[in-house]
Amino acid sequence: MLSKRLLNFESFEVMDILSLAQKLEKEHKVIHLEIGEPDFNTPKSIVEEGIKALKDGFTHYTDSRGILELREKISNLYNSKYKVDINPDNIIITGGSSLGLFFALSSIIDEGDEVLIQNPSYPCYKNFIRFLGGKPVFCDFTVESLEKAISNKTKAIIINSPSNPLGEVVDKEIYEFAYEYIPYIISDEIYNGLVYEGKCYSAIEFDENLEKTILVNGFSKLYAMTGWRIGYVLSNEKIIEGVLKLQQNLFISAPTMSQYAALKAFEKETEKEINNMIKEFNRRRKLVLKYVKYFGWEVNNPIAAYYVFPNIGEDGREFAYKLLKEKYVALTPGIGFGSKGKNCIRISYANSYENIKEGLERIKEFLNER
Ligand code: PLP
Repeated sequence: MLSKRLLNFESFEVMDILSLAQKLEKEHKVIHLEIGEPDFNTPKSIVEEGIKALKDGFTHYTDSRGILELREKISNLYNSKYKVDINPDNIIITGGSSLGLFFALSSIIDEGDEVLIQNPSYPCYKNFIRFLGGKPVFCDFTVESLEKAISNKTKAIIINSPSNPLGEVVDKEIYEFAYEYIPYIISDEIYNGLVYEGKCYSAIEFDENLEKTILVNGFSKLYAMTGWRIGYVLSNEKIIEGVLKLQQNLFISAPTMSQYAALKAFEKETEKEINNMIKEFNRRRKLVLKYVKYFGWEVNNPIAAYYVFPNIGEDGREFAYKLLKEKYVALTPGIGFGSKGKNCIRISYANSYENIKEGLERIKEFLNER
């Protein structure tokens, strides 16, 4: 019998869709618009540095906080970009931002604590919160809704900007409200840098002394390093002390070769590759939006990450499974992200321009045939 804690854990619907898509793939060409990871390979210089680290014998545990060189590079990046004064001891390198998020929540959540999350938002948030005995409180990210959702049990808010699944960025007034009224702000900035229009804030801009901020970020999305499992938590010394205890006990240290490889993410040659990737994502985004508007679907303002989350005016789950079985196009049903996603689907444009176009043409056919 599984533990009660685990019974509250929901499976990741995108993985269910993926496994059905992979079954169908044995006989048909499936277009994958469900997966949330860059189709690009990791930049060459990063891969080479990882190989070099292995060859040079960096195959052991590191300090649980992570190697100092990488923490220095990360702190320098924030200090120069946001004119703050953080130091490497404010940072712990984790096995992906997933682990960072779990550590962040574990360090502050007590039984019964409420955590505000956006409706819709990344499905892991609610699972992590429930697993830790907390209560996820879904709400719209408007000041009015936040005012209604807040209670004396509110311990934290998770702000994910740019957001999965909306592809939007969070407004300044939401940060300002959160910093005034909520004890902790967990800021999941994993899509930071993948912004095609407008400005995306970092939580650090509202809290330079990191009094309330637990910032979680990583290398998976911007640097196409999903498989390397490398991320980090950035916060004040007290929180970091707590996270360090968790890391020591649960994970010991983040993957060593990945830590060395990630050092190259900060170099000029990598920047060039990343900028090309960003340009290509933007081209694909425009393509998806053109089709979505043609289909007459209601869409928000996706200007970042690599997702579009249209309301299709009917049950998104039924639509997604039917489309996959009939036209072999895989999309993620919106309901897994929150009740507001019931009539939505998530289209990920982390696939080639040609494949996306083919997928959208098949959707057009599917809609015309009904
Ligand atoms: N946060 C969000 C919003 C995500 O969409 C994802 C992955 O899809 C993650 C965190 C986890 O990323 P990783 O653990 O690869 O850093």
